[in-house]
Amino acid sequence: MNLIFFGAPNAGKGTYAQGIKNDFMITQVSSGDMLREEVKTSSVLGKKIKELIDAGKFVDDQTMIELFKQRLTEKDCEKGFILDGFPRTLPQAQALDEMLESLNKKIDLVLSFEVPIETLIDRVTGRRTCPKCNRIFHVRNVPPKVEGKCDDCGIDLIKRVDDNEETLRKRVKEFQEKTAPLIEYYDRKKLLLKVDGDRLPEIVLKELKEMLKERFG
Ligand code: AMP
Repeated sequence: MNLIFFGAPNAGKGTYAQGIKNDFMITQVSSGDMLREEVKTSSVLGKKIKELIDAGKFVDDQTMIELFKQRLTEKDCEKGFILDGFPRTLPQAQALDEMLESLNKKIDLVLSFEVPIETLIDRVTGRRTCPKCNRIFHVRNVPPKVEGKCDDCGIDLIKRVDDNEETLRKRVKEFQEKTAPLIEYYDRKKLLLKVDGDRLPEIVLKELKEMLKERFG
């Protein structure tokens, strides 16, 4: 089962990918996590990526395509994957089609999480992330068992630099201009399924698991 999770920043892509990957034994491939790993290396590319992420801007298509070309050939992707945050532009989607064709794979479903901007803003200030395993929490909606600590690693959770209202508004603008056209792209391919993401995460997750079990067993 190969899925794309699609949606504006803070729509819940990462939370739902983390919530279903174990049940279906598939790999979450998060473009944001991959980029943040590169930032940690302090390479020239990492420094350039950090500037763009902190400014709420997209990383260029060529960099993203190269990263995914490499990532999708790795062993853990063989059992199936959830693409979380990629593709985000039309050239990325077209390059993904070519990559998958050469690997003899296909996308089974694109889930688009629909969330109004007011909810995205409300969510952004409360998101906390584990710097080690990248697990996502929310102070109110998905709280950790011990305040401020990752349930799995036990270490202090962090607030991402780009998780503030001003940067979120820029990221949503990027999404509307560059990513939203992909809705039509995947709709035409009859792969798109819209999900009402403006509900409590546990409710969306439960519905998602039931729907995927029904479709893919
Ligand atoms: P995310 O963790 O998915 O919210 O991504 C964080 C940031 O990484 C985004 O705001 C972009 O700056 C960058 N990014 C992630 N995925 C992509 C992509 N597919 N194309 C361009 N930039 C991306």
